[in-house]
Amino acid sequence: MLNKPWLPGKDDPLLKTFNPSLEGFKVSNVMKIDRREWDEDVVKDLFDDRRDKEGNQGEEHSGFWRQLWRLKVPPKVKNLLWREVSGCLPTKSQLHLKDVAIDLYCPSCNVVMESIYHSLVRCSFAQEVWGILMLDVNVGDFEVFDVWFEAILQRFDHPRVEKIATVYWALWEARTNVVWNKKGVTAIALVTSALLLP
Ligand SMILES: [Zn+2]
Repeated sequence: MLNKPWLPGKDDPLLKTFNPSLEGFKVSNVMKIDRREWDEDVVKDLFDDRRDKEGNQGEEHSGFWRQLWRLKVPPKVKNLLWREVSGCLPTKSQLHLKDVAIDLYCPSCNVVMESIYHSLVRCSFAQEVWGILMLDVNVGDFEVFDVWFEAILQRFDHPRVEKIATVYWALWEARTNVVWNKKGVTAIALVTSALLLP
């Protein structure tokens, strides 16, 4: 996506971004799921706005992004992590804000209100998954993804962080499948397919 001249004008038609995880991104990554239209929130956050070069969001997250960028994980995994940091994942509470009629409970346990940190890290199903991998990801009770992930980056070496990021993505996929397709998966099947990811 970054190599194609998307912008009008011959002088500088390439998109610019502070976000290193965007390398290798496809256009479909910033389109709304199942619709042929731009996901405006994603587009706005992803690219440097030519009209406003004063933004400092890039600097705030630059150390974090540098570390994230070095991880050898598929672009879709980096995409998820980035969207999570930016608060633009279609979680139940986000959808609720947009007037989508949906319950607000964690789709795995249906006991507590869904937060992504709970569903992908603390929920019993997630803990079963992390247990199979023998990775103790309970590095504190942060509730906020980027604080949690920074702690993960400090605790584990890169190969293990890459495994955690990939399984985190698989947990998000599994959660989405439960919400929209009512299809569950066992913890062992999730781990097996996540570790076979290209
Ligand atoms: Zn739960």
